[in-house]
Amino acid sequence: MKWHTLAVHAGTEPDPLTGAVMVPVYFTSTYAQQAPGVHKGYEYSRTHNPTRSALEAAIAQLEGAPYGLAFASGLAATDAVLRLLSPKDHVIVSRDLYGGTYRIMRRVFEPWGLEFSFVDTSSLEQVEAAIRPNTRLIWIETPSNPLLRITPIAPLAEIAHAHNAWLVVDNTFATPYLQTPLEMGADIVVHSATKYLGGHSDVVMGAIALKEAQLYERLRFLQNAVGGVPGPMDCFLVLRGIKTLPLRMQKHCENAQKIAEFLATHPRVARVYYPGLITHPNYLIAKQQMRLPGGMVSFEVKVSRPEELQGFWEALEVFTLAESLGGVESLINHPALMTHASIPEAEREALGITAGLLRLSVGIEDAEDLIRDLDRALSRL
Ligand SMILES: *Cc1c(COP(=O)(O)O)cnc(C)c1O
Repeated sequence: MKWHTLAVHAGTEPDPLTGAVMVPVYFTSTYAQQAPGVHKGYEYSRTHNPTRSALEAAIAQLEGAPYGLAFASGLAATDAVLRLLSPKDHVIVSRDLYGGTYRIMRRVFEPWGLEFSFVDTSSLEQVEAAIRPNTRLIWIETPSNPLLRITPIAPLAEIAHAHNAWLVVDNTFATPYLQTPLEMGADIVVHSATKYLGGHSDVVMGAIALKEAQLYERLRFLQNAVGGVPGPMDCFLVLRGIKTLPLRMQKHCENAQKIAEFLATHPRVARVYYPGLITHPNYLIAKQQMRLPGGMVSFEVKVSRPEELQGFWEALEVFTLAESLGGVESLINHPALMTHASIPEAEREALGITAGLLRLSVGIEDAEDLIRDLDRALSRL
């Protein structure tokens, strides 16, 4: 099946009871049993819910995987994956990372006994140098957040497997429409479905897709035992969002490319980070492993303190200053003060998350309006 067909039909079949074309929202916590233990496959909605099952099937199909799991948030999905490990296990992680992933690793799982090394995973040499005998997992974001570095997935999967470790890819920024890491050798894909999969900034959710049955059984056990599951209405919303994922991603990417090219020539912009620009250090790898370079653009304006941006914020009319990303509307974020504030300042500066760094989640509006909005705001700097 090709992409637009897959996105529309994945996980959904007409309801066997009524013929309803859309998967019904099963608002129920429990299910009638004919005799104790005799039922239609559903006992209790933390364990199984038909709306959630449809969504999980859809996510699995999009990622080219036999198994999918939905969680109450991206971080609940992250939590489940990290619980596969045991105290004293070592994890190598992309240094440029979603702030909340950094926080759960450093403040929840490090005290629990896991060891973490944060390295620039776009450099395979740095990853190899960080491997220890107890390395069990390599966790990457590609494109990364907020600097949009690209890590080559296939060679990294080989490195991981040569050392008996799993490769986990947070595929939130790319979405399966732009890249399918499991087909490149990754073991587990994690999503914040809050972002592009949902696509309309109206739901918080997480997801996992994977190929291996035993790992799936363990994660399914954790999903039920820990209980971080999404409700049926949220599952319905993400399932609906997925139907337009390829359409939306096409437009996000088209707009992002135009905006990146506009910013690259702007005198008040010091640097642009976008994997679709030939000047991006990982341009070729992005071209190889991604269908298109994505809808996220970061750039640095020439200021030394965030206060100097006041006029810029005030001038914006189309872009909304907000955390999060991946919705139909364009958002702008100041990583150092917002999404990445949980990373200590010295570490942030070392990473390149400076006072003038801005991150755009480019929406599906008209590119001309978005560029005019940024141009007007930049003139206020
Ligand atoms: C938002 C985000 C998460 C966390 O997901 P939530 O749904 O907010 O819990 C993880 N990874 C990336 C790349 C994200 O953007």
